[in-house]
Amino acid sequence: MKNIRKKIAGLTAAVVAVVGVAAFSAWACFVQPEEMPAQAVPAYQIITEKDTSSKGDTTIVINQKDIYNGNLLLVNPWNAIPEELEDISLRNLYEQYPDRNYQLAGTNMMLQEEAARQANLMFDAAKEAGQENYLLRACYRTQDDQEEILEDELEKYQSLPEDQAENKALSKVAKPGTSEHQLGLAMDVNVYVPGQWSKAFGDTAQCGWLTGHSWQYGWVVRYDEDKSDITGITNEPWHFRYVGVPHAAIMVQKDLCLEEYLELLRQQKHIKVTDEQGETYHIRYVQLGSQPSMTLRIPSSQYAISGDNLGGVIVTWKDETSPQVSQS
Ligand SMILES: [Zn+2]
Repeated sequence: MKNIRKKIAGLTAAVVAVVGVAAFSAWACFVQPEEMPAQAVPAYQIITEKDTSSKGDTTIVINQKDIYNGNLLLVNPWNAIPEELEDISLRNLYEQYPDRNYQLAGTNMMLQEEAARQANLMFDAAKEAGQENYLLRACYRTQDDQEEILEDELEKYQSLPEDQAENKALSKVAKPGTSEHQLGLAMDVNVYVPGQWSKAFGDTAQCGWLTGHSWQYGWVVRYDEDKSDITGITNEPWHFRYVGVPHAAIMVQKDLCLEEYLELLRQQKHIKVTDEQGETYHIRYVQLGSQPSMTLRIPSSQYAISGDNLGGVIVTWKDETSPQVSQS
């Protein structure tokens, strides 16, 4: 009899313990974000080069139009989409990537070609790392799209005086002409939950993985809470911007938003960065201002040009003596 009582008492204690653990887990789930996957931290060697001379076998002619095209264009509340932006080559993700590892909020989701390619590689890697169910909620937008979104937002504040309604709406939606989505270099990412939007993307493991690895594919989280006075946009953990490799890695490593990164390039004029694999890139900032064109010679045939939308042009080239390049 004594033994049976002991057993019952023991069982009761075990049940209480299990319920207690379950209750604690439920509470923990409720108040804490999901456990975040490990983040990849860039460890680039970043050196300021004193040499800003123009020498090498490759000649590049930089024109005014180059100020207003490319992956590093700065578009924010104070710098509108440039009129000189040329026809951008957009890719329809629904049509061109049937094997994609993410969901699309519509069949007309588009990104610029390079950004689209890199986004696909990024979501493939996410899946391999066990992170799935990403939903691309918004990609490229036209001026009309952006105007429509602002109109919809304004309708929510109909009861307010016009100027107050406008201020409210513009705190949530970028003024048409100043949205990065109009560049085809931005996407809003969310978690796909059938039948509903997942609102708290910032607390999900999917967001954790993407935030920690997107730089490896040239994408960055554009609007950080700590930088909102510089970017003019409040915390948006879902908004990713394509800037390209190696710029994304440097921005993450040095904790710079795009405004700060471009300022760094303007001041340093020439930086040399080497990634973990020994691949070396040179980044040269050229202030074109009102000059119609300028000629630059560089010692590599592998380069990319982007304007900053502020009078400058950034030329990025890969060192041809990098181990990977010389082997191939
Ligand atoms: Zn966005």
